[in-house]
Formats: sequence, structure tokens, C-alpha cells
Amino acid sequence: MRIRPSLALPVLLLLAASRVGAQQTVPERTNYQRTSSTAEVGAFLDSLQARGAPITVGTMGRTAEGRPIYLVIASEPRVTSPREAHRSGKLVVYVQANIHAGEVEGKEAVQQLLRELMGVHHDLLSKLVILVAPDYNADGNDAFGPVAVNRPEQDGPPMVGVRPDGLKLDLNRDYLKAEGPETRASLAHVYDTWDPAVMMDLHTTDGTLHGYLLTYSPGLNPNGPPGPTAFTQDTLLPAVRAAMQSKYHEPVFPYGNVRNVQHPQAWTTYSPLAWYGTNYVGLRGRIAVLSEAYSHADFRTRIKVTHDFVLEVLEYAAAHADHIRELERKADRVTTLEGRGDLARPDLAVDFKAASRGVEPVVLDRDHHFDTLQLPIYDRFVASRTVKLPGGYFLPPAEGGMADLLRLHGIQVRRLVKAWSGSAQVLKIDSLGAAANEFQGHHLLTVRGTWDTARVTQPAGAYYVSTAQPLGRLVFELLEPEGYGLARWNFFDRLLGSERGALAGLVYGSSRVRTFPLWRVEHDPQVPMRVVRRQLR
Ligand SMILES: [Zn+2]
Repeated sequence: MRIRPSLALPVLLLLAASRVGAQQTVPERTNYQRTSSTAEVGAFLDSLQARGAPITVGTMGRTAEGRPIYLVIASEPRVTSPREAHRSGKLVVYVQANIHAGEVEGKEAVQQLLRELMGVHHDLLSKLVILVAPDYNADGNDAFGPVAVNRPEQDGPPMVGVRPDGLKLDLNRDYLKAEGPETRASLAHVYDTWDPAVMMDLHTTDGTLHGYLLTYSPGLNPNGPPGPTAFTQDTLLPAVRAAMQSKYHEPVFPYGNVRNVQHPQAWTTYSPLAWYGTNYVGLRGRIAVLSEAYSHADFRTRIKVTHDFVLEVLEYAAAHADHIRELERKADRVTTLEGRGDLARPDLAVDFKAASRGVEPVVLDRDHHFDTLQLPIYDRFVASRTVKLPGGYFLPPAEGGMADLLRLHGIQVRRLVKAWSGSAQVLKIDSLGAAANEFQGHHLLTVRGTWDTARVTQPAGAYYVSTAQPLGRLVFELLEPEGYGLARWNFFDRLLGSERGALAGLVYGSSRVRTFPLWRVEHDPQVPMRVVRRQLR
């Protein structure tokens, strides 16, 4: 993270201005007709800092088009590094806005909240260090166009940015493969360094007509350590929902959609895949909260409800900081023991199906009329096909690129100093199928096979990734060939005898390779290994 210097002269000018009144955000001073550009976000943050707000304005990196990806540290007394935050004993919370840059109210709500940390909400900083990325997808933000084109189901403001980043990536599908500079910056300079205990990702819904100003979700991937996500789903979010109703009269509900609003069968959430930010954070064993303001509510209302929701989650995290820290330490410890085989190895999902928490009243907007219907609430996922968590995985010696990517995620990777021979699990390929259609520049690969035990030899230089570490379940999600990790994103295509993407439409038969080029083992190999250092980028 880089800290932005404040210049003395602007500080003096702004100190003078501050006596006139509080700095306003762009929507506040344009009667909610405009949302801020990246430059205006930067100017607002600088003005807060200059007026003595308890914030440090920095960047986590730069976008493809060279814009700053702002990262604000709000703290009192001031901390400027993960080490200082750790020493303070406070809980680190990360709030991210504008990953889909047409969905703009999160960006405005967090600017207001940062201003309020100088005043009414200053107390939060006695328990929390709050990191804020107000404008995560800055390139998308500044590609302004008419809301009717960029966000057709959204009620203003008139001009908004676009969903993808400067590389045309949907950043909320990028968390495992990490191709976007924004993803890489946040992995290196937020998740692996600050290790936030709570993460919030702020969005706007895509159009289902319902009766809630905001819908929310915990991480949905059932392969994460169960403790933090169950706490989020069953304790934190219901408490926040009740507070939203009693304090602000703002109805909120678990995120969902219906297929046909006239004949609804079920209220169903979105995907459990770890490509999505909040699902990814849940897999890391941390609390994740997705916020989706209602696209049919006007801009001012969406800013307010997002502001109130973020504030309530922060209040809850502050009030329960010790409990949250203990839950997450336990998740880290249990995951490590499972990977080592000292606790029963869990059966983890390589495919998923939606599960219901039961039938509840759901308010839908049908022909401008609120109807309450009793519907099954599908707000979570369970495994529909499982594979047992192994002790670890071997990668071939030439796969330094994949090793670097694992390191970027904060995963410990080791390299064999000497050759190793022993018993391993080898996946005999039954079928390989690549999607005909392109998705995010890829033809997603589906691998199906049968695990078999074989005696194998790994040469010196082979990479070994143990699941006996706090991110052991993330290791599974990235490397298990039949799941939705790196194999799915074509990282193994070359090793399977094809150039990246060229397996499109392929049905197994033409591949020369009969076993998958990654081996599982029950226990860490007894051979000298050295830890691979992280490539800083
Ligand atoms: Zn979104």
C-alpha cells in the first residue's frame, strides 16, 4: 500500500473551507443528479484528510488504464500497516464498493461514512480498523454512459460507469484466477497482508421486483470453514436485519430472485462459486457480507440504505469483535488440523445444489402492488458431489506460474529439494469437456475422472502445496481438478496436450493425456523442501 502525501498549501485552504461546513459528496451537492468520478473521489478523500479526519489515504495499486485504486485506512490512534493494526488488537474490517462500476451508491455511501468517522460514528474506531476501497473498479467507473444503456433496470443517476474493468473483466468472477490488476492488488495488499476479519462488497440488484430496499448474503461456498459463515448467516445478518427495521424502517432480506414474478415458485440466491468476492472470502474462513441495494429504488434512497446497512454491520462487528476473532482463529486451527489428518478430513463439494432454510413470507412487487407470498427460501448450498480433502497436491516443476498465483493468494507453497517416491492419488481421466462459448476470455473446462492409488516419483523441483495450513480449504478449491478452480479456468490445458482455450468443444478421446497432471497425497511427503518466496507485484 502506498500512502498519499498531503501538500501543505491545500491543507491550509481546506482547513479554512472546513469552517464553512462539512465537505459534501458529489451526489449531495448535485441534488443526487451525479455520481463521483475517480478524480472526485480522490479530491473528497484528500479534503477529509486535510480537515483532520482519522483516515490515511493510499492506494493498493493501479488499474489497467493507470488510475489509482484507493485504499483508505480509518483508525484512531492512527495505524498505517497491518503490523500496527495487529498490535492495536482491533478488528480489521474491509469495505469494498464499486466492483461493478455502474452500481454506484456504495461508492457514495462509504464516502459519507468516512466523513462521519470524524463525528457521530467516531466511536467505531475504538474497536475497529476500517479499510475502505470506495472505487475498486476505477476504470469502469470513469467509462460514464447513460444509465438506460449501462444499467437499464436501475433508477439513476443519469450517467454511470460500466460493469467490467479496463481489461473488460467482470472482477466479481475473477477471485480465483486473478487476472485483473484490481484482484491482484487486493490479494497482495489487502487479503494477504491485512487479513480482514470482516469483508463487505457493495452492489445493486439486477432487476427482480421485490419489496426490500436491500438484500444481503453471507459467503455461499459450502467448502469454507463452517464457523464464520454460519455465524454470519444465522446470527450477524438476522441481528442487522432487525436493526435495519427498528432503527430506520428499512426492509431488508436475504438476497434472492424469482423466475416469474406472477407465478413464483421459490426465492433463490445466486451462485456458490468462489469466483465471487464474498464467496471467496468465506472460503478463507473470514466473515463476508454481500450488500445489494434495490435497483428500482432511487439513487438517494439506495445511498441511504447502503450507508445504514454498512454502518449496522460495522456496529455489530465492533460489539462482537472478540467473539469474531475467536471464531476465525478456531477456523484457522481446525482447517490446519484437518489438512494434517489430525482431525477427520471433510468431504468437500466439487458440485453444488441449492438448499432451503424453509418457507417464509416474501414481499414481491407485482404491477406496482406489494404482495406477500409464502415461498421456500433457497439461501444456501450443499454438496451434490464430494471429494475428500487430501493432505496436499503436487504440481510439476515447470508450473512456476501456478505456484506464483497460489502465493499471491497467501498460500504456502514448497519445492522439493530432492526427488520423492511414494504412494499418491492419480486422477484417471474419464472425460474432458470445454465449453463452446467463451466466458471471461476462457472456454471453461470440465474434468471428470476416477481417483486411483499409484506409486509415483516426483523430481526435485516439483511444487508441493499442503492443505495443513489456514487456507487449506482454499487450496482444495483452487486445485481440485473436478471442481471450479484453476483446471476449470484452463490453467492445465497445456499439460493436457492443448494450447490454452484450444480444447473448446473437445470431448475426451483426442487428448493424448490419460491421467490428470496433478497428484494428491494423504500426508506431506517426508523429503527436504524449501518454501517458495512470494513474488511481489
Ligand atoms: Zn454487482
